[in-house]
Amino acid sequence: MKYFSVPADFSKQTIDKYARLNEAYTGSKVVETYGNITVDNRWGSGRTVNLLPEVGLDKLAEYVSYSREKNIDFNYTMNASYMGNREFESQTIAAIKTFLGELHEAGVGWLTVTMPSLIELVRSVKYDFRLKASAICQVTNPDKALAYKRMGVDRIVVDESINRDFKTLERIRNCFGSGVEIIANVICYKNCIYRMFHYNQISGDSIDQANKTSCDFFVNRCVLQRYQNISNLLRINWIRPEDLHYYTGIGINYFKLQGRQAVMRGDPVKALEYYFKEDYDGDLMELLDMFDPMTRFRVRMDNKELTGFIDAFYRKENFCKNDCTGCSYCETFAKKCIDFKKAREVVDMAKEFYCGYDDYRQMLQDTEPAKPVEKLFQDYSMNVNFDFE
Ligand code: SF4
Repeated sequence: MKYFSVPADFSKQTIDKYARLNEAYTGSKVVETYGNITVDNRWGSGRTVNLLPEVGLDKLAEYVSYSREKNIDFNYTMNASYMGNREFESQTIAAIKTFLGELHEAGVGWLTVTMPSLIELVRSVKYDFRLKASAICQVTNPDKALAYKRMGVDRIVVDESINRDFKTLERIRNCFGSGVEIIANVICYKNCIYRMFHYNQISGDSIDQANKTSCDFFVNRCVLQRYQNISNLLRINWIRPEDLHYYTGIGINYFKLQGRQAVMRGDPVKALEYYFKEDYDGDLMELLDMFDPMTRFRVRMDNKELTGFIDAFYRKENFCKNDCTGCSYCETFAKKCIDFKKAREVVDMAKEFYCGYDDYRQMLQDTEPAKPVEKLFQDYSMNVNFDFE
């Protein structure tokens, strides 16, 4: 059985569609949608506020109740990687406790969290929330997984960088138990140096308003890094619908579809159904983006040409050495599934656009050093007479 966690668009019609898929497919099931409020929100999450639907507590309560009628749970995302250390102040602790009460009142039973301090805080209240450790926790090995289990976490989303490291996944599964979840439609470059910093930026931009320069900085660097080499598209740890059985085969039955940024414009139901069917004949990048028509500079990647790509990772432990200078495996497959001539045209356009549109670089050029702060006591100290006789 495969259980899916999918981003909420907070629409009852979408819940109806998920319920219909749950009836139509016996081997797969949407168990929850996830998301957070954006109206009068005070607590960060893993997506910037400008990309999310407008939802307040009342609408959330209505949505959760409707979802439950359809046997679909809701998981509230409170998964910022940083809260400005506010969670260590009594006033903030009190406010978070009140908010947890409001969530409980709204019918929320599951929370996705990142920070161990917040986990302790949630465990200190009377409400019996079930907890999922976010992918932002960067669980990459059994020891980390076990540490979260000991803290009372029911499910963990493993770090996407290990999606093709089957032995490690199996070890995590063996020590943590059945609640191991994996992101299927990954869109981030595997060895991205920006990842942790991007999480922190998102935490800061996920509450009342998002800073355009900081948001654009990471989108810009992400695309430029990805397109340094067209084969990098294969160095994103996505999981094809056809390859889910490799994961269920090692006891991983929970799959997450990321895409809160795409639910309003894209088609999450369509994307999910391909994962239910375990079959997709089309552009893999389009599926990973949940068919969001606004995604710019997309390079087409023929999903069916990627048949067998995952086998080598599955069969041989440590197959990927994370040193692409001495390995051409991904490039060989890239040549099969990507039209390089067309891809170069897209890449050139992307580079031209993103190199010319870079607020941060422009700010660095335009901003002069601030005047040194005046040393207020300098003159005074020079005139003091330390004559104590
Ligand atoms: S080391 Fe080889 S298998 Fe690993 S990402 Fe690089 S090219 Fe792909």
